[in-house]
Amino acid sequence: MLTLTQSHLRQLEICPRRYQYGYLEQVPVPTDPEMLERQRWGTQFHLVMQQRELGLPVEGFLKADAALDAAVQGLLTAAPELFVPQADRFRQSEHRRTLAFNGYALTAIYDLLVLEPNQGQIIDWKTYQRPPQQAQLAKEWQTRLYLYLLVETTDLAPEQVSMTYWFVSPPGAEARAEAQTGPPSSIAIAYTKAQHRRTEADLRRLTDQLTSLLTPGGNLPQVDPVLGYCAQCPYAVRCQRWAERFGTGGGMVLPAIADIAEVPL
Ligand code: SF4
Repeated sequence: MLTLTQSHLRQLEICPRRYQYGYLEQVPVPTDPEMLERQRWGTQFHLVMQQRELGLPVEGFLKADAALDAAVQGLLTAAPELFVPQADRFRQSEHRRTLAFNGYALTAIYDLLVLEPNQGQIIDWKTYQRPPQQAQLAKEWQTRLYLYLLVETTDLAPEQVSMTYWFVSPPGAEARAEAQTGPPSSIAIAYTKAQHRRTEADLRRLTDQLTSLLTPGGNLPQVDPVLGYCAQCPYAVRCQRWAERFGTGGGMVLPAIADIAEVPL
């Protein structure tokens, strides 16, 4: 059974071909070294938070990285209630939930899940520089899928679950004059029955669409270029949509070397 995560759903909704290249064929894309370093730091932060939750020592990591230490201490100061152990609560970091849905395995991994008899709280750590607006976050597939799965896999009603994003400053944010350079901040998203029904309908639509599109050896359709997604897409050259990404103004514009796919010899 094919697994669908929030990231798969997001790509599928933007452009089925992008989902094909990114997840079904796992075509590698050139990555900006600075972005790679930010990802590495974000992974390290998540690892420290998980180890801490498991009661394993983290001092070695924190001593070696002042920014990591500041981020973890900032979070402990900003949200002490999150870290107080309570006997009547189930809590687990990197908690995985899977649900069989319309022929697919919907899957989420929560950074931290806290369950009480009448309440469920999903916590997600973000090492973003600029927290998005709450309304934007509520529309993201991560929020929608994570809340949907928690309701579908527990006895909790939609109104009894919530998701809170915590944003911490990555190293160098101040130097880059980014908005999020102070202490950690959070955005909480509540949930309702109506949102639950909408998410279910959208999941059914997307999974039905994927089932009808998946044919052996066939390509999934490309998005309409006027929607503007190709201009940001790392597969523009492979897709022959490079004009959308690199422009056509006044003669031939070559893509960056890093964006040209390697040809095996
Ligand atoms: S270049 Fe456009 S059509 Fe091709 S995968 Fe990317 S978004 Fe889809």
